[in-house]
Amino acid sequence: MFNKSIKAYKEAKKVIPGGVDSPVRAFNSVGGTPPFIAQGKGSYLIDIDGNKYLDFVQSWGPLIFGHCNKDIQKAVQKTVKKGLSFGAPTILETKLASSIVKMFDNIDQIRFVSSGTEAVMSAIRLARGVTKKDNIIKFEGCYHGHSDSLLVSAGSGLATFGEPSSPGVPADLIKHTILSEYNNIKQLKECFKNNSDIACVIIEPIAGNMGLVPASQKFLKTCRKLCDKYGALLIFDEVMSGFRASLKGASGLTDVVPDIVTFGKVIGAGMPVGAFASRDEIMNQLSPNGAIYQAGTLSGNPVAMAAGLKSLEKLKKDKNIYKRLNKKAVRLTKGLKKVAQKYNIPLQVDTRGSMFGFFFCKKAPTNMKEVGLCDFDRFAKFHNRMLKKGFYFACSQYETGFICDTMTNNDIDRCIKAADQVMKSL
Ligand SMILES: *Cc1c(COP(=O)(O)O)cnc(C)c1O
Repeated sequence: MFNKSIKAYKEAKKVIPGGVDSPVRAFNSVGGTPPFIAQGKGSYLIDIDGNKYLDFVQSWGPLIFGHCNKDIQKAVQKTVKKGLSFGAPTILETKLASSIVKMFDNIDQIRFVSSGTEAVMSAIRLARGVTKKDNIIKFEGCYHGHSDSLLVSAGSGLATFGEPSSPGVPADLIKHTILSEYNNIKQLKECFKNNSDIACVIIEPIAGNMGLVPASQKFLKTCRKLCDKYGALLIFDEVMSGFRASLKGASGLTDVVPDIVTFGKVIGAGMPVGAFASRDEIMNQLSPNGAIYQAGTLSGNPVAMAAGLKSLEKLKKDKNIYKRLNKKAVRLTKGLKKVAQKYNIPLQVDTRGSMFGFFFCKKAPTNMKEVGLCDFDRFAKFHNRMLKKGFYFACSQYETGFICDTMTNNDIDRCIKAADQVMKSL
C-alpha cells in the first residue's frame, strides 16, 4: 500500500539528508515511511501510491482554505504571468502590508521576509538594536525557527529527537539566550532578577510546537509587566497562531499587547512568506530608515504576496469563518475524547480557533516537562493506524493539528469512527 513511497524514500535518502528537507517530515518519532505526496485536493492529500488521506497537517498550518483553493490559485496564476520576481518594490507588498496594519492597533509597519525563521531572527535583531541590550528570554518548548541563538532546547523537530540543542551552534551564541519554563511566573521573575541586559521576551502566546499548550492570561500579563518594568520588548511569535487562532491570531484572544509580532505560515497561504511588525518608533530604526540591518533578495516576492493577499481578503470577508473552523475542531476533539473514555484511555484535548491538540496523558500539560510525561508509544501506534485508515495527523505529539475550511462534519465523523476502531486496540 506504500510501495511507491517506500521506493521514493529510499531514492531520496541517497541525495537528501534523511530523504527530507525538514526533519519532522521523516516520521522518526512514529516510525514507518512518510507517504510521498502527489497532490492535494481540498481537505485531502493523495500520495504517489494513490492513497487518500484527510489532512490535519495542512502543510503545518498555512492552508486554512485547504489545498488548491480556486481563488488563491487564480490570484497566483495571474501574477505568475507577469514575472516571478523583480527585486524591486511592487504594489502588492503595500496592499498586503496595509491590509495587516489596518487590523492591529499596535502595528504601524510590517516587513516581509521568506520564512518564519527569518521573521523571528529579524525581530530579535530589531529588539536588540532598539534596546541596545544583548540578552533574550525564551521559553522551553516554544519553537521560533532554527536560527542559532534560538536553538536552545527548542520544541518541534528538536524535541522530537530529544536533543537539548544542536551541534554547530557555538556556545558563545547561546549564552545570551535565557531559558525559562512556560507558564511559570515565578521562574520568569527570577530570570529578570538574576540577569541584566534583557532586550526582549519572545513567546508563542499559544504554543503550538510542544503540542497545543496555551499560555495562561496571567502568564502573558506577567510577561508584559516584567518587560515594562525592566525596559525589555515583548515579542509575540505568531508564525503559527497568526490568522489561525482567530483573525488576529493569539493577539485577538488576549488583552496583552506585544511590542513586536512575527507572522508566517497562513500569511503566505502556502507560499514562502514571513513577516515582522511593530509600531513606527521601532520599525523606523530598521534599514534603510535606521541602522539596524535586514534584507532579502526574494522578500515580498510578488507571487507569494498575491497568495497572501487573496487569502487574507477571503478571511476578512468571511465573518464566521473562525467560529465555523472552531466548531469543527471542537467536534473532532470532543469526539476523540469520548472514544478514548470508552476504552479508558486518558486523553487531553484543547482547541484555539482552527488549531487543535491532543495528548495521551492524565492531566493537560502546561509546559514542556509535562508534555514529556505523555504516552509517546501510544501516540505512535495511534498515528500509524490512523494513517493506514486514511487520516493524516502530524507525525509527533509535539505538533498541533489544523482544521481547514473545506473539512466537513462528515469528514470529522468518519475520523472519529476510525479512531474508535483504532483506540479499541491501543
Ligand atoms: C513554524 C514556526 C516558525 C518557523 O517558521 P519557518 O517558516 O518554518 O521557518 C517559527 N515560529 C513558530 C511559532 C512556528 O510555528
